[in-house]
Amino acid sequence: MVENIEIKLRDEAKRLLLEKSVDVIIGYETGTLPLTATPCFINSPEEAEKLVFNELCTQNIAKYVHDFITNHKNSQKRVKPEDRKKKVIGVVARGCTTRSLVLHLQERQYDRDEVHIIGVPCEGYLDRKKLEKTLQGEEILDGNVENGQIKVKTAAGDKTLSRADLLADNCRACRFNNPIISDIIIGSPAPAMNPDNEYEKINEFEKKSLAERWAHFTKEMGKCLRCYACRQACPSCYCPTCFAEQSQPQWVGIGDDESDTQVFQCMRLFHMVGRCVDCGSCVSVCTTGVDLRNYLKKEEKDCWELFGSRAGSSLEEMPPLGKYGEHDKQDFIYNP
Ligand code: SF4
Ligand code: SF4
Ligand code: SF4
Repeated sequence: MVENIEIKLRDEAKRLLLEKSVDVIIGYETGTLPLTATPCFINSPEEAEKLVFNELCTQNIAKYVHDFITNHKNSQKRVKPEDRKKKVIGVVARGCTTRSLVLHLQERQYDRDEVHIIGVPCEGYLDRKKLEKTLQGEEILDGNVENGQIKVKTAAGDKTLSRADLLADNCRACRFNNPIISDIIIGSPAPAMNPDNEYEKINEFEKKSLAERWAHFTKEMGKCLRCYACRQACPSCYCPTCFAEQSQPQWVGIGDDESDTQVFQCMRLFHMVGRCVDCGSCVSVCTTGVDLRNYLKKEEKDCWELFGSRAGSSLEEMPPLGKYGEHDKQDFIYNP
């Protein structure tokens, strides 16, 4: 099925580039390391052969759509208004990618006609950290995924692992694995994942006292190096200057003081309220394994329970913090 999708995907990409309906297509190509795929930019019909779409495509590439359009718009600032040109970005988008695109559109980051969405049904991606843990640190020399099994070659010998066991947690519980919006869909809809238990861990977390929650947070953030890879990978993190890098005023210090790390993480988490699409990109790039998803998912649960909203799940329904209603609840406002 995957190969069939890839053939159709390449054909569609070629057609769009030949007809000049798009200026570039952002998708995935095979990575340089075994069992990896990496984002790529396809500029010509010939390059379309590079495109792949499979369970190794980890990153949410809506991030690049935003960056590409923003950089192009910035480059046009000195061009006379009548000479300015729009660029159309083609993007290979699964469910969570389209949720980020919806969010960008709702936040007026670009217009709908600046993005051409090639929707692909998705059955989840592999969690590299789970794979490496299962292999107990053995270097992966080669590998492929076939019929639901991962065949890996390591110095210690060949191993066959189950794809289902190694799916990322966010994929396992994904509600939106088919595109929310698209200009074309490649392939048939993917079967539903298993969202019934999506808040299992959060329900446990909520049973903790405030002191226990704080202990959990400080322990997790104690692992954080403040490398900012999570922020860089996140399609919802696009402020031109992150508060963490502002110097006038300086909100957080740049040293390794643990309170600065906690403030950075708290601020980023608050910026994600109603805006996190649970794509797992931040989690997958974190080299020290900070359990970011615990807090993001708690916010998502609150947002659903309080406002009946899931980020990017509908183009028509504005995010809760992006709209004002005369009868909005105000009981959270208090005098300290
Ligand atoms: S979160 Fe959903 S749409 Fe995104 S990669 Fe996982 S299964 Fe696919
Ligand atoms: S990627 Fe991980 S280590 Fe880096 S800033 Fe984010 S949480 Fe901290
Ligand atoms: S916070 Fe993480 S999971 Fe949420 S949208 Fe950003 S990268 Fe995806």
